[in-house]
Amino acid sequence: MKTRIERGWVATMNDELRVYADGTVLLEDDRIIYVGPASEAPAGHADRIIDAQGKMVLPGLINTHVHLSQQLGRGIGDDVSLLTWLHERIWPYESAMTYEDSYISSLLCGIELIRTGVTCFAEAGGQHVAAMADAMEELGLRGILARSIMDEGEGPASMIEPTDQCIARQRDLMDRFHGSCEGRLRVWPACRTIFNCSDELFLRTKELADQRGVGVHAHIAEIPDEVEFARQTRGATTVAHLENLGVLGPNFLSVHTVWLTEAELDILAKRDVPVSHNPAAAMRVLGFADVPGMLDRGILVALGTDGAPSNNRMNLISEMYLAGLIHKGRKLDPQVVPAEAVLGMVTHKAAQALLWEDEIGSLEVGTRADVTIIDPRTAGMLPTHDPVANLVYAMDTTNVSMVIVDGRILFEDGVIQTVDESAVLAEAEARAAELVRRAGVRLPHRFPQA
Ligand SMILES: [Zn+2]
Repeated sequence: MKTRIERGWVATMNDELRVYADGTVLLEDDRIIYVGPASEAPAGHADRIIDAQGKMVLPGLINTHVHLSQQLGRGIGDDVSLLTWLHERIWPYESAMTYEDSYISSLLCGIELIRTGVTCFAEAGGQHVAAMADAMEELGLRGILARSIMDEGEGPASMIEPTDQCIARQRDLMDRFHGSCEGRLRVWPACRTIFNCSDELFLRTKELADQRGVGVHAHIAEIPDEVEFARQTRGATTVAHLENLGVLGPNFLSVHTVWLTEAELDILAKRDVPVSHNPAAAMRVLGFADVPGMLDRGILVALGTDGAPSNNRMNLISEMYLAGLIHKGRKLDPQVVPAEAVLGMVTHKAAQALLWEDEIGSLEVGTRADVTIIDPRTAGMLPTHDPVANLVYAMDTTNVSMVIVDGRILFEDGVIQTVDESAVLAEAEARAAELVRRAGVRLPHRFPQA
């Protein structure tokens, strides 16, 4: 199957960050076989021609921090503290979740990801990895799955397991699902937070990841309470403690990392630790990660949305907008975190953070045929004097025109091509109500009820 995408403005996001004003991208099956100017494109038959005139052709966008299973919990955690959010809302919700709930939640989340131009994501850890894998097989998305593991601390009894079992389960999941769906799915081990993971669990998780050549996904330094907890129980703040343990490295994806000392930022730089910055979730309850300070130190920063109950938009395009704005306001400096850096955080930098840069994150010969096509011809995005700035500061989901993974079209003409979206929405609505009732989550009324 050969596909020719022609007459588009093509941003390759390759090492040179080359852009072609009149570019052609040729796909053969699941690979890219040509990227370059139309004038040099090889002639020959194509099974499918996509006219991208007036459109922008990008590598598929990558969301580095997602909770597939939390999608049915959108709206259960608004306007409360992180610990209330976790103890009274999310843990009851997650412990009541069945395989079917997780499957529908993952389908719903996946639909939202695709509609926002995303082709690949990294899951932070849910309960039913098999359900997530089944949903991803149907949707056609690429992603890294993980199971939430905890071996100590406060938390629902059903979710806390002995350390040996945590490691054994992770190993089993890798054996079953790593490399499945024609290579679209990978599995990483994940440590939830330092509140619920012993030092032994961190050490053995990192060891397992090293053995398998994958990464570790972990929430790090989210709130002041966490840093204080680490100081009291471990004698050092979170990142300093993990450095003492020896678990930090390029395959340790550190999510949020909001409450760091200058010395801890230096540690992340020294150890080449990638950071997943989730600006919306951070602004709600966590704080402002020092992204300008990270970029100054050469730390690899990628973007993520976090889960629906903490964002509530699983919309990487919104995160690009926020990441591009909030640090300027905070630092009173319009030059920090420029648009070109933000675009990198959802493409080639995100691929590096997920240890997948040899295959995704840029449009290059030999890489996977994952492409997102943007149509800027809406009242909200035209004119495009500065296309990169428009992608970050003006684009919204209505501009996503087509999403392709492994050469297969997942989204076209406003319609998800792989699953019946309206059936998923109906099922999700019914299941979400039942799940929240079963979990015993009660939300206060915001207005008097008649
Ligand atoms: Zn998270």
